Amino acid sequence: MITSTYDASSLHRSFGIDLGEIDMGAVEAFGVGANWGRVPPGQHSDPHQHDETETFVIVSGAGDIVVDGGRTPVGPAMVLQFEPFETHYLDNTGTQDLLFATFYWRDSPRAARMAPRTDRRRFGDRPVFAFSTPPTPNGGLHVGHLSGPYLGTDAFVRFQRMNGTRVWHLAATDDFQSYVAACASREGRQPAEVAAHYAGEIAQTLALMDIEPDQLTHTSRDERYPDALRAFFTALVDSGRLTRQEGTALFDGETGQYLYEPDVSGGCPTCGDHTGGNICERCGEPNFCVDLGKPGSAHSDAEPRTGPITRYTLPLHELRDAVLEHHHVGRAPARLRELAHRIFGRERIDMAVTHPSSWGVLPAQQDVPGQVIWVWIELAFGFIYGIESLGRKLGTGWRADAPEDDWKIVHFLGYDNTFYHSIFGPALYKIASPRWTPDVDYHINEFYLLDGDKFSTSRRHVIWGKDILGPDTVDGLRYYLALTRPETHRTNFTLAEYADVVSRTLIERWQGWLHDLGGRLERRYGGKVPDAGIWTPEHTAFLARLENRLAEMTGSLGQDGFSLNRAARTLDGIVADTLRFSGFEQATAELAAWKDEARTAIALELAAAKLLAHCAAPVMPRFAAKLGTALGIDPPERWPALVTLVPPGTRVKLSGQVFFRQPARAGGQPAALLPWLSGLVRQALRLPEGETVADATLVSLGVKSMQAIALQYQILDHTGADVSVEYLLSDRTVGELAEFLSGQAAADDEDGADGADGADGDQESMIISGGGPAAQEPAAQEPAAQEPAVQEPAVQEPAAQEVVGA
Ligand SMILES: [Zn+2]
Repeated sequence: MITSTYDASSLHRSFGIDLGEIDMGAVEAFGVGANWGRVPPGQHSDPHQHDETETFVIVSGAGDIVVDGGRTPVGPAMVLQFEPFETHYLDNTGTQDLLFATFYWRDSPRAARMAPRTDRRRFGDRPVFAFSTPPTPNGGLHVGHLSGPYLGTDAFVRFQRMNGTRVWHLAATDDFQSYVAACASREGRQPAEVAAHYAGEIAQTLALMDIEPDQLTHTSRDERYPDALRAFFTALVDSGRLTRQEGTALFDGETGQYLYEPDVSGGCPTCGDHTGGNICERCGEPNFCVDLGKPGSAHSDAEPRTGPITRYTLPLHELRDAVLEHHHVGRAPARLRELAHRIFGRERIDMAVTHPSSWGVLPAQQDVPGQVIWVWIELAFGFIYGIESLGRKLGTGWRADAPEDDWKIVHFLGYDNTFYHSIFGPALYKIASPRWTPDVDYHINEFYLLDGDKFSTSRRHVIWGKDILGPDTVDGLRYYLALTRPETHRTNFTLAEYADVVSRTLIERWQGWLHDLGGRLERRYGGKVPDAGIWTPEHTAFLARLENRLAEMTGSLGQDGFSLNRAARTLDGIVADTLRFSGFEQATAELAAWKDEARTAIALELAAAKLLAHCAAPVMPRFAAKLGTALGIDPPERWPALVTLVPPGTRVKLSGQVFFRQPARAGGQPAALLPWLSGLVRQALRLPEGETVADATLVSLGVKSMQAIALQYQILDHTGADVSVEYLLSDRTVGELAEFLSGQAAADDEDGADGADGADGDQESMIISGGGPAAQEPAAQEPAAQEPAVQEPAVQEPAAQEVVGA
């Protein structure tokens, strides 16, 4: 007999508590490991998960076992068993040591069952709140924005909903950003006006993208918000962690204005890259403005000076352990954990959390006059406030000042926001609600480039969502963005490649296959689904292949392995597999002797189409619904557990269905040159970025004849098209002009209406190549400092230059 007795003196620190080995020879004999464990009063073990099955036997003491966010009281003589991968920890809520023995072993079949297919493992029946990063309402949403958090959150929520999860998409506009105030002063408007204007633009663009958040907060227009935020800030102050501290700040050398965020730029103290104030987009680390190398003010050319200032300040380094523990709870990608490791390598991180500004929410504390609560505190608070607002609509009673362990939060964000979302925010939660264990999954994207360069509104190096989205093209754009969005590294958008992918993949391959399948079904079976007959080995193998694709798709859209890059490739893989299968089967498709095998083959092709409709639903909802209708099946609203046949006898109408359109095609489609032409017009008229001009004529926008001459030359220079001033000032809208210009080079046709129909193939290929030059316009290459209202005219005509300058 072997015995092991608990010995407090032989314990070592592990998983945040005290552990001591139980050596009964069981590891060698049966692969079972065993330990004594002790959780001191008021402490808890680190939340963790692993592939082993584990059993706890509670020996003495009292507390709670927390599994996937659910709390259960435990005490002596209780035995607990955890399934593989369940997140669990023991919380000692009593006054004495909580002692337990633990036994764990690998049960691979059990782990395999738990891991990939049951994608609700960490979600269970908990409410899931998926947040897309709040956009700053100082401009519209461009393709770079859309590709990241917004498309990500939308596809994620759609997939989860198909699986029965209680999930909501929550969004907000981050109205009190200093960048809104900076934009307002540029545009000569009030910040509140700017915030409201662009909030409208943002909402419209999201709607065009088929993204409709369930909760949308506008922080500057929500009546309850300022008081609620002040209460959160007061809780932080009352904790004693946030205190008034004297520090050093940068001030404009000429005006004396306090400099932070957009007011200042210089060398990042960590990586040396050129960066704005407070956060570096490249290395992701915060800076404090005074530590920037060779700082420059946005308000004057004078060298900024340093000076003392008293602000509320958070010693973030004191929250190191709490933040690192937080990263053990949910999905915290390695890139995020590495950033946290770097930042907490600093000895001190004193974050000022109030700043002098006239735009923002004043704290209840009166001892920092002229300072507002830093907007990044709002970010953290805004999430739980959004949950409260949603709960009010749903009648659930969720409260921002009493967050619950049961809540599952999922964030979609760009890498440059990682510090605020996953380090600064959780530190604030720990202070304001110490009893709360926030359970957060983070999904981070990198930068999306346009033609190899960063999207830049100031340089007009940008494609606004509103300029290229329409009902017939939204799914094409969603597919292309899903395929190319920057999930692991910086990736690149080009209009030409986008048009090419829509044309080759979606129109030629997918739609071509569906049309061909519909034609064969009509010809051989009168358009009705035949019952499967005799199955050959190839038939069973193809069904197994489709099952593999379904599993791949489930893994790509599930919360753990979420990747729209992989999802888009898998969708195309379903079509590619089917084309290969179908190609082989054609040899006997019309031979009477093999008719029972032939109907199995076409029934399987239809099963593949049905699978495509379901799998595409989160990424391309319109296409999925339309394909479902064409196949005569129920709308694809539930995620399939298996690949199934379309019921025999179903009437299918695939032939002639238009699922996708070329982005440059007319008939209500935005032309390839529209983003470029819209930008040109906005710039000439000094209209705000993101303002839609596609539906207006140049005359109605206020273009005078001399300005039209300037436009005429810029169009000639950029596209080679010689358009008359009369034509520009006719009753054609900017959208129609763009269509005309897009088709002009091919058709050499004065009549814009013909070009708009875009029926002939030649013209289409010209439109596609037209995307190239539009993307590489000379203005984009110019240094940012140039920043003229109208791009430097490549014009010899002096008259035009004068008008431009006027
Ligand atoms: Zn940096």
